[in-house]
Amino acid sequence: MDYFPAFLQLHGKRCLLIGGGDVATRKARLLINAGALLTIVASEINQTLVKACDKADVTFQRRAFRDDDVRGHWLVVAATDDKHVQAAVADAAGRAGVFCNCVDDLESSSYITPAIVDRGPVVVAVTSSGKAPVLARSIRARIESMLPTATGDLARLAGRWRERVSARIKDAFSRRRFWETFFAGPVSSAVYRGDPDAANRESAELMHRVSGGPPGRGEVWLVGAGPGDPDLLTLRALQVLQSADAILHDRLVSDDVLALARRDAERIAVGKIPGCRQNNQERINSLLIELAASGKRVCRLKGGDPFIFGRGGEEFDAVTGAGYSCHVVPGITAAAGCAASAAIPLTHRDAAQSVVFVTAHGKDSLDRLEWRSLARDRQTIAFYMGVRRFSEISEQLIAHGRSASTPIAIIENGTTPQQRVVRGRLGQLVSVATTHRIKAPSMLIIGKVAELRDESVQRKSSTSVEHGYAERLGRIHVLPNGLAGQGDHLDFPAA
Ligand code: SAH
Repeated sequence: MDYFPAFLQLHGKRCLLIGGGDVATRKARLLINAGALLTIVASEINQTLVKACDKADVTFQRRAFRDDDVRGHWLVVAATDDKHVQAAVADAAGRAGVFCNCVDDLESSSYITPAIVDRGPVVVAVTSSGKAPVLARSIRARIESMLPTATGDLARLAGRWRERVSARIKDAFSRRRFWETFFAGPVSSAVYRGDPDAANRESAELMHRVSGGPPGRGEVWLVGAGPGDPDLLTLRALQVLQSADAILHDRLVSDDVLALARRDAERIAVGKIPGCRQNNQERINSLLIELAASGKRVCRLKGGDPFIFGRGGEEFDAVTGAGYSCHVVPGITAAAGCAASAAIPLTHRDAAQSVVFVTAHGKDSLDRLEWRSLARDRQTIAFYMGVRRFSEISEQLIAHGRSASTPIAIIENGTTPQQRVVRGRLGQLVSVATTHRIKAPSMLIIGKVAELRDESVQRKSSTSVEHGYAERLGRIHVLPNGLAGQGDHLDFPAA
């Protein structure tokens, strides 16, 4: 290790800053935030710096640096653009035994400052020891996206409970269990959704439970896992996945998404529950309630969005009906994910003013559809669960007035490395699907947009593909037209 990591307590401590420009201003802000008593020495001091020090206890000395300035200070920062001054400050600080940072000069600095994520009082510091500052910043950005804004509130709440918990829960094992649950259960979710009263109630209940009281109440989160690519999860979905005690997932949820879940969470695949004769949905509902009743934080992970053709509404009713709280985290629905991945704009001012999401699951659902309104022009239709109904779909739409030459696109395994995009015309839907052996899960998009080559959308989509999922897996290939694609992009000739 080249550097010893430490956080300095600078409250009320004298610190010296040499320099009066923009860089010095940035440094002054940080030092003032940390509570330092600042002296600034520089022949010229700009107005922004003076303003930045407005409300702080800062002494300005408008003159050149002198060696004995460093005396009596805990920390020195040299932030001038003069190499000689920088060297003189570093020298003087070295001789006086005071730590000194020379901005952008690793060699002369006796300490360096990290890239930080500030969720005060939680602070994460990252450094590459001066070897790769851009890498350190990109790591910082990743951590930034992982930590909810309310992380600081959670830490403050923990601080307020610390003494009470130590007094009440005597053995170390139970105390650890308390804190683990505190940071990954109903307390943290209450903080993250901005409900401090509930967070306090949950903390009290948790303390009661761990110190021997009756079990507290669990809760259920219905979480959208998106169409497959783990990069398309929302930040909140990721947070819930990483803090859940139990995860119930569908067959459609990809392994790559599941890989992001908390390692020691109980995982239950509910696509098919072995040995279960009861209706699967009823069984899932009662499993959710059983797990919540045992005090667990349950993540019900569903493909796409939980409230779009996912029976999320029924699960929500079952859980809340049983008296447990249920929260919903939206996800990117398959139509939006597949369309983006295939560079198809679902609406377009020249081609479609509306888009409808339709399920073709089961014979009855097709019978109940309003085909006349679906067959309207200038409307995009996104059919979910349609693979086995392609012939009825095309026949009905054509019979109700949609032209057989209406463009269609079928996206199989959209957004995953196995994605295939097949294009054609409504009149050929069945033959296109048969020729290419289309299988579920597939999204059928019908409408003029399916043949649009919208350059801007295409470019965006191919970029996100290149830098996203497929490239990471090394399975990207570039098509002859320059569009980077995943799997096969197949164009079926027009009728
Ligand atoms: N709640 C989900 C939909 C569940 S219904 C959502 O919002 O997306 C399941 C259907 O969604 C599948 O039959 C298929 O039509 C579609 N689907 C889901 N994931 C898909 C994917 N990766 N590629 C293509 N279609 C997908």
